[in-house]
Amino acid sequence: MGPGRCVRTKRAKAACNNLFMVDNGGEALGIYISIPFCRSKCTYCNFASGVHPAADHAHYVERLVEDLLWARTLSKGRGVELTRRVDTVYLGGGTPSLLAPDLLVLLFNSIRSEFDLDPDAEITMECAPGQMADATLEAMAAMGVNRVSLGVQSFVDWEAHASGRLHSRTVVESDLGRLRSAGIANLNVDLIAGLAGQTFASWEESLDGVIDSGVPHASVYMLEVDQKSRLGREMLEGGARYRADLVPSEEAIARMYERAIERLGSAGLIQYEISNFSRLGFESNHNLRYWRRRPYLGIGLDASSMLALHAAAVRNGAGDQARPSDVLRLTTTDVLKEYLAGPAAPEITRLSPARQFEEAWFLGLRMNEGVDIDALRQEFGAAKVAPAMKTVERLVDDGLLAAEGAHVRLTSRGRLFSNDVFQEFLEVVDPDQGSEDSFTASQAQLAWKLESAMNEV
Ligand code: SF4
Repeated sequence: MGPGRCVRTKRAKAACNNLFMVDNGGEALGIYISIPFCRSKCTYCNFASGVHPAADHAHYVERLVEDLLWARTLSKGRGVELTRRVDTVYLGGGTPSLLAPDLLVLLFNSIRSEFDLDPDAEITMECAPGQMADATLEAMAAMGVNRVSLGVQSFVDWEAHASGRLHSRTVVESDLGRLRSAGIANLNVDLIAGLAGQTFASWEESLDGVIDSGVPHASVYMLEVDQKSRLGREMLEGGARYRADLVPSEEAIARMYERAIERLGSAGLIQYEISNFSRLGFESNHNLRYWRRRPYLGIGLDASSMLALHAAAVRNGAGDQARPSDVLRLTTTDVLKEYLAGPAAPEITRLSPARQFEEAWFLGLRMNEGVDIDALRQEFGAAKVAPAMKTVERLVDDGLLAAEGAHVRLTSRGRLFSNDVFQEFLEVVDPDQGSEDSFTASQAQLAWKLESAMNEV
């Protein structure tokens, strides 16, 4: 359903063991848990989620618990010291609110037995409107869930139904009220610009819905068209099922997105990332972790982890000798049967400094705060940053980037062409890094995958 999904890169060609010692330097971890169960499959959905019997839910949670315990043991076996401190937890994937209360309690008890959650840790759960039983809501509050992301997508009933959603605007409003009554006021609402049949008038109605609801956070995604969703496939084949012929044009979707920035901003929901808007202090700490390249542990189906050797860059004196941390990315299977069958080694990729440099650009540029050039020089060295600054100058001239002091950020025009901008910061793989970095995806594929994982809804 959501924005909290881990960055996923599935093209690692080789798993490897005992790569090197990893420790997160005492920096708190974020934990992402994938719950891939939904009551129905939305037409636009390109996640590894599906409709599965309740028996699978119980079995799946058993496997999650096993993996939570396994994570530390496995890490230790590889010389990895996983910190116990956690400051964000995110349950996403499909619809975690479908889990029975006793399964939620079992899951949270396991997290808390393996990790020490900060007293003010942000604990988010994705929920679907109308799919959150009273007992589930009680269990959520009791387990410390303090943030909920509601997959609304549209406040216009026929539009939501045509996309496979099962709720109405009345249900959304009622659920927001129930969550607030349960003490969960840090609420996010997801919207999609580009749903089949959507018009400028209906988009205004959805923006009204978000603003009138008073939520402190909203995520606005532009429809993705790819082979992984039913709607995407139909569009690519030129068909009309799922009202594919009524999907607004790219230009119209871009105008809807710009209108969202304008209207949400006027209502106090300030854009802080390409797809995310919040009142001050209500930014998603868990998602900021991905864009700021802070460590996270992903558990469950199709989940990724990112763990670093040191929290800060390792410096050897002069700026040009700086080198970034060693970083591992681990990715689990996206096939439910395989996941349920028992623990399996995740794909492991060691990200070369060159790859990390690229990610620092295209993840950093997603945020309105942009890329901090001084921090980049400190982490990667001035010599590495210098050629990229030539690209920055060119893109500033093109009106796609703005450079203010030591920060470089996307302009509003740059946000519309963000993929093209990110592409500019991809470089040819450094041959010296080839043996360390086991990606087989091309640079462009990698950028696309990271970008689409971030944008998935
Ligand atoms: S969009 Fe969300 S609710 Fe809909 S099928 Fe995908 S994961 Fe499930």
